[in-house]
Amino acid sequence: MNIVAQPAPSTLIVDLRRTYVSRYGAPMISQVAVEVFQLRYFTKCMSCTFCNDWCCSHGVDIDLDNVQRLLANRDALENWLKIPSKDWFTDEEPDKHPDYPGGACMRTNTRNGRCIFLNPKGRGCQLHAYALEKGLDYHDFKPVLSALFPLTFDDGTLHVMEEVEDRSLVCLGEGLTLYRGVRAELEYYFGPSFVEELDEVEAAHAPR
Ligand code: SF4
Repeated sequence: MNIVAQPAPSTLIVDLRRTYVSRYGAPMISQVAVEVFQLRYFTKCMSCTFCNDWCCSHGVDIDLDNVQRLLANRDALENWLKIPSKDWFTDEEPDKHPDYPGGACMRTNTRNGRCIFLNPKGRGCQLHAYALEKGLDYHDFKPVLSALFPLTFDDGTLHVMEEVEDRSLVCLGEGLTLYRGVRAELEYYFGPSFVEELDEVEAAHAPR
């Protein structure tokens, strides 16, 4: 894949007209970093032939409400994943933060340098695949930060993940902008008026 030189992204943070609250009650977003409309990545993850799910190498933060939803499906998930629930998360103390539904997050475990929920024989997130196979909404199983990758949020600001900041994300360069890549997910979590306002910010700062 040939890396396309990208214009230096803006470091500008734009205030939104109001605070948008996730359908889960947290996080709440009232600002956006303009570079989400400027940087590009491969986007079509399941047809990527060079990344081998690189972004799933480190595990992911998962909010306590999401953890409870997985544990509520423990028997079925253990049977389908063939992974005992005792191995699903690291044994670190939950990290308290109001950005997370349930008021804190845990961390998914890794195995052989890959998230424990990553398909060991193929591609993609097994929590996502399980939900699809069972006709369930994958958002109830897959961590919010996995669905919004390569975007994240902190203290009210929607911005890029650290793997984008340090340019270690192997699929940066070509494809849709980071915003356009996850616009549908942002609309799922924060509603249509949120992406309508982000479209305006996009039009003002990164004309398509
Ligand atoms: S975001 Fe990039 S590294 Fe991650 S699965 Fe998609 S194409 Fe691969």
